[in-house]
Amino acid sequence: MSDDTNPFESLQSQIEDAANYLDIGDDVIERLKHPERVLETNLTIERDDGDLERFKAFRSQFNGDRGPYKGGIRYHPQVSRDEVKALSGWMTYKTAIVDIPLGGGKGGIVIDPDDYSESELERLTRSFARELRPMIGEDRDVPAPDVNTGQREMNWIKDTYETLENTTEPGVITGKAIDSGGSAGRVEATGRSTVLAAREAFDYLDKDLEGATVAVQGYGNAGWIAAKLIDEMGATVVAASDSTGGIYNPDGFDPVAAKDHKIETGSVVGYEESEEELTNEDVLTLDVDLLIPAALENAVDADLAADVEADVISEAANGPLTPAADEVLEGKDVFVIPDILANAGGVTVSYFEWVQNRQRFSWSEERVNEELETIIVDAFNALVETYEEHDLENPRTAAYVVAIQRVADAFEEAGSWP
Ligand code: NAD
Repeated sequence: MSDDTNPFESLQSQIEDAANYLDIGDDVIERLKHPERVLETNLTIERDDGDLERFKAFRSQFNGDRGPYKGGIRYHPQVSRDEVKALSGWMTYKTAIVDIPLGGGKGGIVIDPDDYSESELERLTRSFARELRPMIGEDRDVPAPDVNTGQREMNWIKDTYETLENTTEPGVITGKAIDSGGSAGRVEATGRSTVLAAREAFDYLDKDLEGATVAVQGYGNAGWIAAKLIDEMGATVVAASDSTGGIYNPDGFDPVAAKDHKIETGSVVGYEESEEELTNEDVLTLDVDLLIPAALENAVDADLAADVEADVISEAANGPLTPAADEVLEGKDVFVIPDILANAGGVTVSYFEWVQNRQRFSWSEERVNEELETIIVDAFNALVETYEEHDLENPRTAAYVVAIQRVADAFEEAGSWP
């Protein structure tokens, strides 16, 4: 991270920007700026050597006006109460902009999972699942994977919950392996929406995606899939980076081979088709048509934004631009497709997984991808309509205007509890 902006303050300032264009009372807006509740807990597990170790963990349930809380669980040393609150708020407005009947939540454990064995991570995950049990459930709160968690952790959480509840309820969690009730297309969904949104933006801006140059910061699940799919759409991926550094080839490289190199060696650096090694900051400021930030929050602050040369940014990561960076990019006419739309493929296919679990009926990957495309294109069109209607400078504000209105409508239509 190049900036220590508090992500929860970023979320609140994004909501305040959008509120200027909404006919919603300050009291309702105030409610929509804060989570409904946050669980903070300490998990103590036995290490493989017999010692005990304590870990701090959180689950924030931001808003449930439109449906069960929905959002991932992150394992990272930088997890904090405010980060989890911010991420849960972004989830609320993400499920609203893509108009799926879910609210927003998020969880995390403060840990660097690389330092722990698989059995230690299993004990920790099951311990967190026991803490979460009273607040989760397919009609209450449905967690999913996020940074450093995946199918393995989701399967452990599902098994712990189902064992303790003496039931089968696969819809309690999404992002599961296919054989445990997961959905076709879930692993690729975030990268897929990132590039579908980019495709729509290029079309809207009358720019050609064929041959467009692309840089991808962060080469994990979201980043490398976005690189692969945009390459398949005819664009040229020229740069990529991960936490160890970046690679560059002005003529483009094979994004799948770069991912294979990362899996083999732990890093994209050293990949044979790379002509030059770059720093992370170099990758973010390359002169490309499309930049895809796909790592963590606050990757681009105002200083770095001044050097950004991309024409379009599609935010695969959550919160990669600080509000100050947003302002600088606005002044430079960079078209930013906000995270709540660009990376909404993950939660949208999680929603499809939840629907399939409840129906006890699996969809084909083709159907999943088609339904996802319809939802992302509709959300992009809703964003553009509001962007033009209010003559907005920033597509992010347009997305929040649409999303906040939908959440506020659900809240107000519900009436008040005496
Ligand atoms: P991941 O753990 O699979 O990948 C993260 C990648 O970022 C890794 O390659 C890591 O090396 C890299 N990275 C970390 N710090 C970096 C730095 N300072 N500079 C450059 N690269 C760095 O995680 P993911 O699931 O791909 O998630 C990435 C982002 O996408 C997060 O913001 C996450 O919240 C968001 N997101 C993910 C999903 C999903 O379904 N996976 C859905 C929505 C949003």
